[in-house]
Amino acid sequence: MQYDLIIRNGTVIDGSGLPRFRADVGIVHGKIATIGKIRDRAKEVIDAEGHVVAPGFIDGHTHMDAQVFWDPLGTCSCWHGITSVVMGNCGFSLAPCSEKDKLLVMRNLERAEDISPEAMEAGIRWSWTTYPEYLDAVDSLPKGINYSAYIGHSALRTYVMGERAFTDPATPEDLEAMTREVRDAIRAGAMGFTTSRTRNHQTPDGQPVASRLATWDEVRQLVGVMGEMGAGVFEIAGEDTDINPDLREDYLGRLKALAVDTGVPVTFGVFHRRYAPDLWRQYLATIDETAAAGGRMFAQVHSRSINVVLSFQSTTPFDKLPVWREIRKLPLSEQEIQLRNPDVRRRLIEAVYNTPRESHRPVGPEPRKANFKWLFVMDKATPPYRSLADIASEQNKDPVEVFIDLSLDKGLKQFFIQPLVNENEEYALEMIKHPRAVVTFSDSGAHVSQIMDSSLQTHLLSYWVRNKQAVTLEEAVRMLSFVPASHWGLNGRGLLREGWQADVVIFNPDTVAPMMPELVFDLPAGARRLKQKATGIMGTIVNGEVVLRNNEHTGALPGRLLRGPLAGR
Ligand SMILES: [Zn+2]
Repeated sequence: MQYDLIIRNGTVIDGSGLPRFRADVGIVHGKIATIGKIRDRAKEVIDAEGHVVAPGFIDGHTHMDAQVFWDPLGTCSCWHGITSVVMGNCGFSLAPCSEKDKLLVMRNLERAEDISPEAMEAGIRWSWTTYPEYLDAVDSLPKGINYSAYIGHSALRTYVMGERAFTDPATPEDLEAMTREVRDAIRAGAMGFTTSRTRNHQTPDGQPVASRLATWDEVRQLVGVMGEMGAGVFEIAGEDTDINPDLREDYLGRLKALAVDTGVPVTFGVFHRRYAPDLWRQYLATIDETAAAGGRMFAQVHSRSINVVLSFQSTTPFDKLPVWREIRKLPLSEQEIQLRNPDVRRRLIEAVYNTPRESHRPVGPEPRKANFKWLFVMDKATPPYRSLADIASEQNKDPVEVFIDLSLDKGLKQFFIQPLVNENEEYALEMIKHPRAVVTFSDSGAHVSQIMDSSLQTHLLSYWVRNKQAVTLEEAVRMLSFVPASHWGLNGRGLLREGWQADVVIFNPDTVAPMMPELVFDLPAGARRLKQKATGIMGTIVNGEVVLRNNEHTGALPGRLLRGPLAGR
């Protein structure tokens, strides 16, 4: 046989969880043709000696809806072995929406997901109104990896109701129009329908995003459309019921009933919170109960804590304080001079303790009021990290002073992290191992200057597999490939099998790891973002073509739009 590509001498970990074996992998016409000893020739050969050959990883929770227009590679996810993503989560899609109304849709995205409106304005060529037209637009874009997309409730509601979407319940006519759009979207290949009901999702002026105005009945009817059609997944950024047991019981009961009544798979993020350490167990118990009652439901979990990443280059936890605000509006070089001035330092430190905080409530991954036991110095890409409280007491300094001094030592580039959820890593591990959980939730494409979670896959491989030996490599690969492919129905992907799509990642199990993030200004209109690459990844292959070699783009753009099961029927 004449192969397009042969990966020789690697160790195959096929994604099923079965033990590794040494074999060559031969690829023809974008598909895996042979796994075994291959004596034939190929146009291209990769020697993977000492490396693992695995199915490309899949991330089910991204927000690349806007980014896909200016970044075909799907960074930073592609640098961590990702070959397919699902976007449009949490109710945020860019369709349906006509160009003249795009500011309304961007209003939903801007603060809730921290996507710069200038970048969206400069980077997106708006060529659609309906959801099927949006999918066609994505289909026609050059792409390095594979993308699939949900239709989001906030966009849908805004499209049908205009300004009323942000204030009113839907009328029967509104609902009928929304129902029609969801049906069209699923028929065109949307992966499903998503919504948000969390107070974490606000517009820049502090109003709820449009989906939060929906009654539960509205949600039920829209999910019901997918139930009738027999296709589509429902993703929800859930209600904030954590501290109120009655609200929680009511909410989880509604979710369970929704899954059982409609037959639609329901999915959402589950995180541990240090303020309410055992709640996640109830969420996972509900998922098990739903399965027993005949519904489908799965959790999306993270491989580590979700952290706000802070630095003088982007945001510090003190920026809203008036004294700090004065200094922070200066150019960084000026700030550096000021920070060395003893007088200024004293005032900055005092301000942290003496200024009554404004009534601003941080939402999503906006920095929290500093608790120095929970503010860590990010001096390397993987934990353990030391808290400012610990360093301060060791050096007999004020923690704010430590914050300033460490920053000055690094030319104001020192990163600090403030964990928002999943602080207890033993719980995080338990969640990773739950049989109805998917390790996903990078949020890639969103919160681009606030958090950096596109590295969650390489964190799993480096931290949990190699450093802690808490998960086997075979288990980890399965978690990142076959499990998400199965939940989102990405047929023919997620396993290395003859006849399956050749999405492959080749990595060194001894060195694969996230690198330190950096702050860059490379978005359209010069908007900033955190960028994080990984070491130890030799090759990333999408639909049979090498897209990244040692994490550098080869120029190939073989990615596709992956449409849901009803497309083309
Ligand atoms: Zn999200």
